[in-house]
Amino acid sequence: MAQFAVIGLGRFGSACALELMKTGHSVLGVDTNPKLVNKYADQLSRAVIADVTDRQALEELGLDNYDVVLVAIGADIEACLVCVVHLKSFGVPTIWAKATSHAQHLILAKIGVNRIIHPEEEMGIRVAQMLSYPMVNDYITLGNGDYIVEVTASENMNGQTIKDVLREQMDDVQVLLVKRRGQTTTQPNADFALHAKDLLILLGQLQALRTAAPKLV
Ligand code: ATP
Ligand code: ATP
Ligand code: CA
Repeated sequence: MAQFAVIGLGRFGSACALELMKTGHSVLGVDTNPKLVNKYADQLSRAVIADVTDRQALEELGLDNYDVVLVAIGADIEACLVCVVHLKSFGVPTIWAKATSHAQHLILAKIGVNRIIHPEEEMGIRVAQMLSYPMVNDYITLGNGDYIVEVTASENMNGQTIKDVLREQMDDVQVLLVKRRGQTTTQPNADFALHAKDLLILLGQLQALRTAAPKLV
């Protein structure tokens, strides 16, 4: 279990904080707006009303003991930057921040933010990829054209083996695992018989997956 702090409980910050709680982590939420802090107080490990541009108020939160601090202040770019400068001076090990403009990105990178997030652009790209490959439930990009994708086997797959279905793609696409009603089989062999609704995790180059995935769904 890691300790996270989320500064700014707007839509982005609160969604992130709640998801971290769901995945079993400890989360401190901070916002100047008492309404938001009260709203999330019961759902987070701790919720505090504070203005994070106020160095002393920020210092009292003891954020140097947290694994990651996520700064999710959108509109007030100045507040975001001042907050990051303070966090740096306290020795917070890892800082992630949301950026809303190119200028803000440049400054955040310069002052040592470890990961800068652009929710609108990143989500736009993700939506486009989901529109392009509707047969894929989810995916991770590994760089250099390598992807890990999740697909759900269709009714037609019932009883067919992996090599029946993938044929020429066997060399280019690896089936990393198959999940069937809560049971996982890692690196199933080529003779593994599929069932409808099996969840398959595939690894390969985009081009090979583009051919392989539609055969399974
Ligand atoms: P979203 O799109 O995620 O809803 P946003 O991009 O519109 O948010 P804001 O609403 O500007 O961003 O900021 C997010 C939250 O950060 C707000 O709830 C706001 O009250 C809080 N916030 C802004 N400035 C400070 C500050 N100095 N200290 C603490 N919290 C702050
Ligand atoms: P984002 O956060 O993605 O930058 P936003 O949520 O702030 O965008 P807007 O900037 O209000 O949303 O709208 C996005 C785009 O949609 C703008 O470029 C705007 O010009 C365009 N748009 C808004 N209304 C219309 C309309 N009636 N017809 C066509 N385009 C429109
Ligand atoms: Ca916004």
